[in-house]
Amino acid sequence: MKISPNDPCPCGRGDKYKRCCRLYHEGRPVPDAEALMRSRFTAYALDLPRYIRATTHPDGPHWKDDPVAWDRDIRSFTDGTFFRHLEIREHLPGDTESYVSFVVTLEKGGRRQGFGEKSRFLKLEDRWLYHSGTSFRP
Ligand SMILES: [Zn+2]
Repeated sequence: MKISPNDPCPCGRGDKYKRCCRLYHEGRPVPDAEALMRSRFTAYALDLPRYIRATTHPDGPHWKDDPVAWDRDIRSFTDGTFFRHLEIREHLPGDTESYVSFVVTLEKGGRRQGFGEKSRFLKLEDRWLYHSGTSFRP
């Protein structure tokens, strides 16, 4: 999906993309795990696999050493998928460890489906990173 900087941000926070997740996609540090969660959702929606890689914890189960193969994996998930909606259910903040529960609505082949995940975020060298997640039925 391609959008203009003045379009509403896909993460649904209510601001324009240029004042919301784009700031983080361009390198500004996220203030907390919820902002990271939102900006990763938007990166999936806008096909920015590099951002997904850059915000994944190297000790987590999703880390891959080969960025080319990793991008291919990400795109096999995002190609033909529309990221319709993000709902943040809960944010449990912490100094070095945070949890965010959310429900994502995807559309693929004309069919909508929702899935929920409770994600774990860890701080590494003063940056929040996605570590792992446990899925749940919304
Ligand atoms: Zn956003």
